[in-house]
Parts: sequence; structure tokens; C-alpha cells
Amino acid sequence: MRAVRRSHTMSMWPTDSGTSARMKRVRQVATGPELSVRMALRGIGMRFKSGNRTILGTPDLSNKRQRCLLFVHGCFWHGHPGCSRATIPTRNRAAWIRKVRSNQMRDRRVERTLRRQGYSVLVVWECETRASARLRLRLEAFVQRALKGTQRRPDLK
Ligand SMILES: [Zn+2]
Repeated sequence: MRAVRRSHTMSMWPTDSGTSARMKRVRQVATGPELSVRMALRGIGMRFKSGNRTILGTPDLSNKRQRCLLFVHGCFWHGHPGCSRATIPTRNRAAWIRKVRSNQMRDRRVERTLRRQGYSVLVVWECETRASARLRLRLEAFVQRALKGTQRRPDLK
């Protein structure tokens, strides 16, 4: 939300190249699916930072202190199993399959490592960000579980 409002405000002002580069980055961060997740997280009692590069895999949303990470995956690029949005094009099919598979393998590796580091990790697929009531329930349950986890492991704080 914040990002959209900001880019709207900024568009009314003349900007230097540094600023427009920053604005571009801001827009990249605030994609539709991620915004939906942000909205669903409102009032959930945990603050999330966007795209934290200090954490492996640069999670879309993170609370480092509470060890709580959210990835919002595009269904096509991350190869959502059984999803209609993840249909591989017939042209250059083999190359697409290779690309998507290597993304899936990287995702799995990243998630495994993060969990070993004591993080709670939740993946939200792009196609799941529309059913907002259901998404919110899932996020609430995830945050509750993650909080219990960090309480059980005080060494992680
Ligand atoms: Zn999907």
C-alpha cells in the first residue's frame, strides 16, 4: 500500500535519475500478489519488511526478529504444481521446463536452508492471493505457529 501511494505522489514531481531509479525499484517490490498478501496481513500483529536482502533468497516479506518469512511465488516462474497458470508453452518446451525446474530446485534449497536456520517459511502462490479471506486465515495460523516456535527457541531471538 505504502509503495503505491508513494509512487503516485512522486509522479506529480519532477525527479532526477536517482529518484526515478528508486521509484522503479519501489514499483517492482509492490507487485499485485504481494500487495494482496500485505493487505491480508494488516492487523495481524506482526510487521513485515519487503525484500530483505540480508536473508537468503530475499523473502518478499520478512520479520527477522520473529524468524517469520513469506515468499509470494509467481505460479509460472516457480512452477506451481497442478496450477493452470503454470502451463508450459509448447514452443521451446524443453527449455521452459528446464528453467522452471531449476527455479523449483533453487526454491526448495533456499527453503530447506532457511528452516535449518530456524526460520518459519510460508510460500503463498500468486493464484492463492485472490481468495483473501482464506489467505488471511492461513497467514494468521502461520504467524501464530511462527511465534510459538520462536518462544520455544529463545536462543534464536
Ligand atoms: Zn498457482
